[in-house]
Amino acid sequence: MPAQRRCLVTGANRGLGLGFVRHLLARGDAVIATCRHPGRATALNALTDEHPGRLHVVPLDVGDPRSIDALVHELPLVTDGLDLLVNNAGILHAGERFGTVPAGHFDDSLRTNATGPFLVTQALAPHLAPGARVANISSSLGSTGELDAFRTPTYAVSKAAQNMVTALLAKALAAREVVVLALNPGWVRTDMGGGSAEHSIDEAIEALMHVIDTATPADNGRFLDWRGNAVPW
Ligand code: NDP
Repeated sequence: MPAQRRCLVTGANRGLGLGFVRHLLARGDAVIATCRHPGRATALNALTDEHPGRLHVVPLDVGDPRSIDALVHELPLVTDGLDLLVNNAGILHAGERFGTVPAGHFDDSLRTNATGPFLVTQALAPHLAPGARVANISSSLGSTGELDAFRTPTYAVSKAAQNMVTALLAKALAAREVVVLALNPGWVRTDMGGGSAEHSIDEAIEALMHVIDTATPADNGRFLDWRGNAVPW
């Protein structure tokens, strides 16, 4: 891994995504922060002024294949490769109850949380440097092995599907020495996690980056939590 890594983060305008961007900039990396609406990404645009030339804010809706194509065309203008891809963008439909779960929630959740990371990684694969890391932000709610209640079904199904995406990408990219991880960040105080969650964004990012940095080729395709412990599939 080079001293200054070239990184791309999806869903980077708030929450954990913005946390990754702040952390990576603070350690001197070059960052492409992608989000649906760069014009409204106030925090990211302020960071661009603080880190001229090292942060590029680029539009990407991970659920829209045309948006992914546009990113692929723009990428060579802002970087000559990638050492870290963080598939962070995600959605959760809160308040779903058995008996009334709408079909559309499955469509949205799968498109953003599972298909999105697959298509983004597939499209960016030619730009991934040997030894690059791909971090797919998963959830314990996507683990059938940790299932303890009927909860957030469309999110849970989409994260379980994302875990298969991680396993498949790990196989597809192994020959290029790319390490693909499914990471459970724990319960974090963001818009999605809510104000009573266990960890601050900074704590979660510090821990996740340690797991990403210390991963070896033997970890390719594994599902790990923020402490580096294996999560059951
Ligand atoms: P937030 O709801 O705070 O942020 C979600 C981010 O994803 C926003 O930037 C949002 O952009 C973006 N996003 C949603 N849909 C798309 C899309 N189609 N294209 C591009 N960006 C999109 O969530 P968190 O920061 O908490 O979550 C980040 C990741 O961590 C998610 O994958 C989530 O599932 C996972 N996670 C979070 C946990 C927690 O406790 N917080 C626990 C376990 C996993 P916009 O502003 O445009 O909506």
